[in-house]
Amino acid sequence: MEILILGPQGSGKGTQAKLIASEYGFAHIATGEILREAVTAGTELGLRVQPILEAGELVPDELMIELIRNRLDEPDAAEGFVLDGFPRTLVQAEALDAMLAEIARPLVAVFEFLIADDVCIQRLLTRAELEGRTDDAPEVIAKRLALYHEITEPVVEHYRATGRLVGIHADRPVEEVFGEVQAALDRAGVA
Ligand code: AMP
Repeated sequence: MEILILGPQGSGKGTQAKLIASEYGFAHIATGEILREAVTAGTELGLRVQPILEAGELVPDELMIELIRNRLDEPDAAEGFVLDGFPRTLVQAEALDAMLAEIARPLVAVFEFLIADDVCIQRLLTRAELEGRTDDAPEVIAKRLALYHEITEPVVEHYRATGRLVGIHADRPVEEVFGEVQAALDRAGVA
């Protein structure tokens, strides 16, 4: 049971991905979190990606694809996974499609979280105060949202063509959004 959540930063996709993972017993794979942990731990990967994260740029595709390939192999992903933050480019999406075809695990649902940029900006500024994430500074937020529209929206179109894309209005309370997510997963046969 493989699920993708696409949406801009601040759309609440991380929160919903966590809820899906705990409700259905799937692994929550959040690439941003994996990278931030590597930075905190000071690993080779962390040292390499730190300046990229701080600038709000995208980590190179090859690195991300390798990271996901290894992560999907871990035992907790055997029942299913919710990918949050990947794929962010068409190259990543095509690599993911090929990987999933290889292991015969098709995507059951791809969510697109729909929300206005100004709402995301407000939410990210609040998160910056609460969590102190260095990439939630105003100029970095603007950069990250611009990259979402320019580079990641084509990924949404890529999955729209598969007919598995489900649009979710994300500017609503967490429980309401999750209710809609669950209804869509029911329809997709996820139990
Ligand atoms: P996020 O927490 O998803 O907003 O990710 C934080 C940062 O990690 C992003 O601004 C990027 O620098 C990097 N990142 C996370 N996922 C990816 C990805 N799939 N491709 C490239 N960079 C990524």
